[in-house]
Amino acid sequence: MSEYDYDLIVIGAGSGGTRTARISASYGAKTLVVEGDRAGGTCVLRGCIPKKLLVYASQFSEHVSDAEGFCWQIENFKSNWAELIKKKNKELDRLHQIYVNLIKNSGCDLISGWGEVIGPNRVSIRKNDGEIIEFSSKKIMIAVGGKASFPDFEGNNYMINSDEALDLNNLPNSIAIYGSGYIAVEFAGIFNGFGIDTHLIFRADKALRGFDEDVRQHLMRSMKDKGISIHNEVTISKIIKENENIKIKLSDNSTLSVETVMGATGRVPNITGLGLQELGVELGERGEILVNKFNQTNLKSIYAIGDVTNKITLTPVAIAEGHAFADREFGGIDRFISYDYVPSAVFSQPSIAVVGLNYEEAKKNKLNVREYKSEFRALKNTVTDNPERTLMKLVVEQDTQKVLGAHMIGPDAAEIIQGIAIAIKAGALKSDFDSTIGIHPSAAEEFVTMRS
Ligand code: NDP
Repeated sequence: MSEYDYDLIVIGAGSGGTRTARISASYGAKTLVVEGDRAGGTCVLRGCIPKKLLVYASQFSEHVSDAEGFCWQIENFKSNWAELIKKKNKELDRLHQIYVNLIKNSGCDLISGWGEVIGPNRVSIRKNDGEIIEFSSKKIMIAVGGKASFPDFEGNNYMINSDEALDLNNLPNSIAIYGSGYIAVEFAGIFNGFGIDTHLIFRADKALRGFDEDVRQHLMRSMKDKGISIHNEVTISKIIKENENIKIKLSDNSTLSVETVMGATGRVPNITGLGLQELGVELGERGEILVNKFNQTNLKSIYAIGDVTNKITLTPVAIAEGHAFADREFGGIDRFISYDYVPSAVFSQPSIAVVGLNYEEAKKNKLNVREYKSEFRALKNTVTDNPERTLMKLVVEQDTQKVLGAHMIGPDAAEIIQGIAIAIKAGALKSDFDSTIGIHPSAAEEFVTMRS
């Protein structure tokens, strides 16, 4: 008999927490999952999945004009947002149920309620029906993710966050989005695709700080071409509600009046109410839980994975961390994940995907690199009026000829870069790219034909 009720309590049934629990249980660990909201978490219910469905939906306006370029005659083309949101929510209900089944069928207990860590081995749960219960556990995993965070200024309460933007009952006539990170540019593309008067307000000169400079430049141009109004190098000083509209005062003293304002100014670890500070768990500047390479906090029985640790805030990283934790702690497998060459995509329009270093990062790291570029109009756009161009780049270390990074902006970037990421992770040299025969005609073949 164990001295604890459970071997593992996982707080948070998102993608990372669910993987941790399932794999731990498969090794025989007695596991409890605690989730206050619906099982599935941010990515499945409030992030990647619903966002991507809306990205798909919003792209049909461009597909239709492309189709006209290919001599289709299309009449009465219009969208039904309310119906779309219902269909999207039906799919999310299905995915939520899959998560519940995954957890239960792998032998874990699942409790709907908010967990608080009240001791190194003790969790109190305020169940959604109001009852409070407590359990002990040998190990506790925190996998609660993050939440939207807004800067402090008068009227910031009039901004909706991405959770709310995914669930608007009606489309506004106009929207301003504050920020220029992943979420801001993705939602700007969604609303613009639905024909909404879309404004992007941000403090940097270009969107997506940290990305390759040419890619950023290319995105700015494409967003403008597609009709998004760019307000760069400004911040919001005040938001005032005026009847049905919202007036935004910008730091350059200009004003903007729109129906809806969305804040996409970053996310912070969702640690409120978890009791971690009280227990003495070490946190970083943004409230992130600090962990060692075992995903273990300074309290040896408490672990954390995913966005709440604010390392690489991407779902597949959280899943990989949770799986490796379960392998190590309950499966007897000494396995750690690699944080090198983690690819990522931004589902802006056009989409972006990257893996590895960009030229600016390589130079900052004093690496002797050369960049190869290809910029072209895709075959599909040659017979339409679509001016969109594609940009691809490789960053190659001169001494070793190792490919250190690949960057792309254009259709299907994520699908293409995923494959390139395998090659780069395997240590491919520029000559390996060069000796690979291209698939013709495709955009992807440009990655193996870059000569200068
Ligand atoms: P990001 O960190 O990507 O972007 C935050 C944006 O807010 C930046 O433009 C930043 O400006 C701005 N900002 C931050 N603080 C302030 C401030 N005080 N005043 C004005 N502007 C401010 O966050 P997101 O919310 O877009 O996304 C969160 C995370 O979620 C991402 O980092 C990503 O890891 C993940 N994500 C991944 C997706 C994907 O994989 N496709 C999709 C969506 C989210 P500045 O650049 O000037 O600092």
